[in-house]
Amino acid sequence: MHRGTSASAGIGIGRAAVIKEEELVIRQEKVSDSKDEVERFRDALNKTMAQTEALAADLAAKVGEKEVEIMQGHLMLLMDPMLTGEIEGVITGEGVCGEYAIETVCNNYAAVFAAMDNEMMQQRATDMKDIKVRMQQILQGITPVDIASLPAGSIIVAKDLTPSMTAGINPANVTGIVTELGGKTSHSAILARALEIPAVVAVSGILDQIEDGVSLVLDGDEGIVIVNPNQEQSQEYEKKRETFLKEKKELENYIGRPTVTKDGVCVELVANIGKPEDVEKVLQYDGEGVGLFRTEFLFMDRESMPTEEEQFEAYKKVAQALSGKPVIIRTLDIGGDKEIPYMGLKKDENPFLGYRAIRLCLDRKEDIYRPQLRALLRASAFGGIKIMIPMVTCIDEYREARELIEEIKKELEEKKIPYNKEIQVGIMVETAAASLMADVFAKEVDFFSIGTNDLTQYTMSVDRGNDKISYLYSTFNPAVLRSIRHVITCAREAGIMVGMCGEAASDPMMIPLLLAFGLNEFSMSASAILRARKIITEYSKAELQAVAERAMSFVTAREVEDYMREFIK
Ligand code: PEP
Ligand code: MG
Repeated sequence: MHRGTSASAGIGIGRAAVIKEEELVIRQEKVSDSKDEVERFRDALNKTMAQTEALAADLAAKVGEKEVEIMQGHLMLLMDPMLTGEIEGVITGEGVCGEYAIETVCNNYAAVFAAMDNEMMQQRATDMKDIKVRMQQILQGITPVDIASLPAGSIIVAKDLTPSMTAGINPANVTGIVTELGGKTSHSAILARALEIPAVVAVSGILDQIEDGVSLVLDGDEGIVIVNPNQEQSQEYEKKRETFLKEKKELENYIGRPTVTKDGVCVELVANIGKPEDVEKVLQYDGEGVGLFRTEFLFMDRESMPTEEEQFEAYKKVAQALSGKPVIIRTLDIGGDKEIPYMGLKKDENPFLGYRAIRLCLDRKEDIYRPQLRALLRASAFGGIKIMIPMVTCIDEYREARELIEEIKKELEEKKIPYNKEIQVGIMVETAAASLMADVFAKEVDFFSIGTNDLTQYTMSVDRGNDKISYLYSTFNPAVLRSIRHVITCAREAGIMVGMCGEAASDPMMIPLLLAFGLNEFSMSASAILRARKIITEYSKAELQAVAERAMSFVTAREVEDYMREFIK
């Protein structure tokens, strides 16, 4: 039995689909016969071209012209005699292997393209890197795994999942996900929950310990993976799965009911989403709006930045689907654990404390922030959009963003482009600094949303994805709880709305405390909404005051957790 971190609820029973991303290792190796090496290169080049043509045809059938254009651009590069001639020249002139010649020549071209002051040419740099890797993979006999075609009953076992891998998953065939890396709040965990696939993450060393095709059982609630379960274990987990599915069905009784405590306190129960398509699940589970739209997913897994128009369409679609209900859209939060290759950002020494989110956006107003804010303002004419700024640490950041918003509003006004003049602009409270200054922020911003995933990380100085120190990563730590309570109190005193969109908002042990503190809005994965509604309707806020007081009297996370576990029983 292997233990990891529970990341997405449910029981998965099936066969392991082990996904090992083979690493490309490019060395400057000498070859004895350059002529043969040139032939080897030409062969790989032809195969890459055939592969690209096939990809283009496939994309034309599945998606749109834009993607096909990218593939055609790749083909043009592959057919360019100057490029291939130079590669062959390096092989012959320096007597080195094809992989290395491709590496040096393509990198040179990519650097030249990247330095040009023209978006289309910069795109060429990304294309160049793409074809470089594909040719090298063919030379080294590496075939990338095709997740989309895994057979029914597969349990994916991988080092980590990138959003592009997850996007290819067919939930009808994948019954579970196990990863070596990540934590409860890593993006692979968030995506697994969005797809409602049971998942266990941070299972150290699992990749080297199991073979492809072995029988597996995983318990997404307990964070357990069993390899080759015996008959008794299989039966036990089959039963557990049935119970899980039965409870899930029973929760459907909460669809259409108000989210109100026994003593009549109404709270908002809304959803976290990453893509416009996720709205379907929000409606299915009767979410009362969207409390967090992580827009960085619109920027991931592409070759270039989404245009203002593309973003406008995405935001508008969500706003319209929710017909006037609140839709809180967070402006771009990249950096930290979220990378976007085409943006050409340097790797930070300390990414979580580095150049990310609002810091990056204010530094790149013209190419990144202005188009996004403009798209958001334009889309606000179609529904209940509110703008939320992530990773704020000081009031100047909020003021500068607000100023830019006001500037864009004026411009829209002049051009007679409709937008919501009363649009609310709030912040995520997810840094220690923002929490400590919550009283100051509360006087200027329109709302708060507490991001406990990061607030816990920054308060406890513990990397949220590092399993070695995950024992410190608890929202029940008194330091984090005091911070949460303080933020809620400041918001309530100033009369602004305060929500929570970190994972703690759906934790059954945390919900009673949040109700007692006076939280107005709970935002979570759509699949967690009905259970949260059931929990909230079972308490009266008045009775929870004493519980919260007792919980806050403890001095360790363990004591608080034990107490709350006992209480919710
Ligand atoms: C958070 O930090 O709590 C949060 C909701 O944002 P993310 O997980 O995207 O950093
Ligand atoms: Mg965050």
